[in-house]
Amino acid sequence: MLNVQKIREDFPALNQEIYGYPLVYFDNGATTHKPQIVIDTLIHLYSTVNSSVHRGMHQLSIQMTEEYENARSVVQYFINAAKREEIIFTGGTTGSINTIASSFGEAYISEGDEILITAIEHHSNIVPWQLLAERKKATIKVIPMNDRGELILDELDVLMTPQTKILALNHVSNALGTINPVKEIIEKAHERNIPVLVDGAQAIQHDKIDVQDLDCDFYAFSGHKVYGPNGIGVLYGKEEWLEKLPPYQGGGDMVSSVSFDKTTYAELPLKFEAGTANYPAAIGLGKALDYITSIGKETISEYEKTLLEYATEKMSKIDGLKFYGTSKNKISTLSFLMEGIHPSDTGLILDKMGIAVRSGTHCAQPVMTYFGIDGTVRASMVFYNTKEEIDRLYEGLIKVKQMFQ
Ligand code: PMP
Repeated sequence: MLNVQKIREDFPALNQEIYGYPLVYFDNGATTHKPQIVIDTLIHLYSTVNSSVHRGMHQLSIQMTEEYENARSVVQYFINAAKREEIIFTGGTTGSINTIASSFGEAYISEGDEILITAIEHHSNIVPWQLLAERKKATIKVIPMNDRGELILDELDVLMTPQTKILALNHVSNALGTINPVKEIIEKAHERNIPVLVDGAQAIQHDKIDVQDLDCDFYAFSGHKVYGPNGIGVLYGKEEWLEKLPPYQGGGDMVSSVSFDKTTYAELPLKFEAGTANYPAAIGLGKALDYITSIGKETISEYEKTLLEYATEKMSKIDGLKFYGTSKNKISTLSFLMEGIHPSDTGLILDKMGIAVRSGTHCAQPVMTYFGIDGTVRASMVFYNTKEEIDRLYEGLIKVKQMFQ
């Protein structure tokens, strides 16, 4: 069992008041708070070791390099990658997806090719592919969804054609919370030799991720959504792909030798890490992942399921509240609208009661277009949230309703 009160003590930002109320933070889908160990790590690194990695021969640089490369191993074990060389540090999920859209796109996409995405993607997993499609005169195809916010997989056989060169989809939808059956989809794609990139930005913090079991070709996630620092993310890629792909960006650290006639590239993973890396953030991310491991991924997801059940049942009692994203298989995120009340108004009024939710399109405009709405209110809960906080949300929503009556 999870000792939530004890866990909350590890997150200093949870312990504050907003407009005189104890903060209820339900905007974890946007970013999560950081445990003290991550904050302390950053302070420690900047106030002592602070030195560039892979470059210096001096003690501090050697120490920082060791810690940075150790963080890479932590990520490797966390997602069960076969090799540490398959872990590339990027700026975030967006950076990871753009790396593949650009690098894979350069080498493998030509005029007339098709790129397959889904109807429930975050803009980060739509726009990079659109830019690529424009550049290469390729076409984007979209796996549709149903009213529950689930992908309609019957159409996969028709949508995957000999022209399909890559499939990019999220593991979990940020707008609706749906957990997509990525393993099954990857299997189907691989039957047709189509590589698959999984956007794991909303999955990594909720469930155990095993990239070898999923057999995905690429997996992307952000540090700041998994209790780590901002400005760091991960791109996992199968070694065979990363070896074949051209580098994404050129610069220091990604080269083996440079002359005006010919440049040779560094071995993996550095081939994809041009420029001075955000090594303090990478090390901080390693600490965040160690922290989660110490609590237990299964324990976390079990607890989050109880939060989802409790919140769904409680909020269903509010007359005029409609949920968006009602798949049976979902994370602890609730997207909803109150009848006749704009989501921004709901969000603003809840804020005045110290309750932080997200309102808007959640960077998933096509999802909102599908439902014919401007946006939703999203309460995304994680393992440091409590049932008492859900009660506060419920009471807050009742007040919002009364104000509009
Ligand atoms: N994909 C999904 C599913 C997301 O939820 C997000 C963040 N909201 C992103 C991609 C982009 O993540 P980042 O801004 O950290 O790069």
